[in-house]
Amino acid sequence: MQKDLRIVIIGAGMAGILAAIRLLENNYKNFTLYEKADQVGGTWRDNSYPGLTCDVPSHHYTYSFERNPAWSRHYSPGPEIKEYFQNVFKKYNLQKYTKFGAEVKSMDFISNQWHLGLADDFNDTADVVIGATGVLHHPKMPDIAGIDSFQGHIFHSSKWQHELELENLNVGVIGNGSSGVQIVGALGGECKSLFHFQRTAQWMMPLDNGIFSSEEQVAFQDPKIMNEAMQFDEYFDAVNRYSQALLDMESDGAKEMANICKDNLIENVKDVELRKKLTPDHRPLCKRLVWSSDYYPAIQHPKSELVVESISEIVRDGIVLANSRKIELDVIVLATGFKVDSFLRPINVKGLDAIKLNDYWSPTPKAYLSISLPKFPNLFLLNGPNGPVGNFSLIDIAEHQMNYILQLISYINENKINHIEPKHNITEEYEAKRAEAAKKTVWYQGGCNSWYLNDEGIPASWPWTYKDFVEAMKEPKLENFSFKS
Ligand code: NAP
Repeated sequence: MQKDLRIVIIGAGMAGILAAIRLLENNYKNFTLYEKADQVGGTWRDNSYPGLTCDVPSHHYTYSFERNPAWSRHYSPGPEIKEYFQNVFKKYNLQKYTKFGAEVKSMDFISNQWHLGLADDFNDTADVVIGATGVLHHPKMPDIAGIDSFQGHIFHSSKWQHELELENLNVGVIGNGSSGVQIVGALGGECKSLFHFQRTAQWMMPLDNGIFSSEEQVAFQDPKIMNEAMQFDEYFDAVNRYSQALLDMESDGAKEMANICKDNLIENVKDVELRKKLTPDHRPLCKRLVWSSDYYPAIQHPKSELVVESISEIVRDGIVLANSRKIELDVIVLATGFKVDSFLRPINVKGLDAIKLNDYWSPTPKAYLSISLPKFPNLFLLNGPNGPVGNFSLIDIAEHQMNYILQLISYINENKINHIEPKHNITEEYEAKRAEAAKKTVWYQGGCNSWYLNDEGIPASWPWTYKDFVEAMKEPKLENFSFKS
């Protein structure tokens, strides 16, 4: 039987599509999925730079209920992932529930309902709102003097200008996180000249991205074979080692991973000077680990140069370094990352007693178990603040979170609850415990700066094991919530 609750999902990326499918499965049909862009896909729609690849193994980077036997490679190229989400969206007929070009601008909780204001004076109300707005969405532009004076092409890595033919152009890439490294890995030897501007060296894990044969793709159609391809001891060992290495940088797992990164550098970069420039001064995994076997060959290509002198300014035709050297450029790619603490913002959200989300999240975002916030009833976030990061599949994470959220929604529905919110003291205690544990991780102790750290310098992430996360998501502890009927 259809359930009456009126639900709004914000964002038609991986998490929003998941939320919609799971609502339908549970007979919640009175919902709308609002998407501000004109197509689905979230980060996989926005990012289309050369070399874009997911560093989670392909078969693990899918919904658990929609495995994909047809991936072309062990680690999927971005365009295939985008297509995968488009196909799932179509398969579940989500078009019927979705409004594109519909940006939610404001949300006010009044008389037990969320009142949503959208662009073009369109309004809606909802009993429950699920925020699925993503983390790596708002580009972070670097604060470099003269950036507006550049007369060539300058763009963020998530806004690739495909019409440009780079073959005869001098290209500069600023930033060497996963995006910058993948871009340089793909462009090495493909431009007239390629300059990679590195502020902080990165540790790099080799990534052997093999092709799946057509025989394998056919075999993966058998769920048993697909399962075998996913559930093998080496994979679980790698996940455990990774988890251990993040939480304890003196652990065997951490040492093992550090040795792989070090050997990777030594084996693949023979020039001592270049190797020195590429050697980080922090512990592996302190920054999000970068996976690539393309980067070292690409940066050693005769047409490439690694630039480690800091940038002084951008001028009309290039970049001037602190030592006054000028590098003339036709194109500058800003692979400078994302504002990772926006979440629902810039939506102007007001909860009970007109409390503003901006104020509640000052100085830094927090949420009970990353999902719900005191004073913001019936609002649930997928991949919200301080949630699991690391290199785990965010799809799997979102599935566990959605399972938890569905139980709360079901409680609201069955008990005719008007609103549900986590208790203030429970949320504060949780956040204090989380911050304490986060200070023991390599993200805090590894001697680096990274986008994992919030404005207070605390890692904004789940600081316990993956197993702990799964356990926490099994069932909401209702005693930690306040209810109003
Ligand atoms: P990022 O990891 O935040 O890296 C930003 C880079 O820009 C850093 O190297 C940073 O240097 C540099 N930078 C920023 N401002 C600068 C300035 N003013 N001058 C010089 N350099 C500057 O961003 P990202 O590479 O876009 O990656 C973000 C996240 O997206 C990843 O960590 C990952 O979670 C995700 N991602 C995943 C994949 C995948 O394969 N799954 C691919 C791409 C992205 P410093 O290090 O010195 O700060």
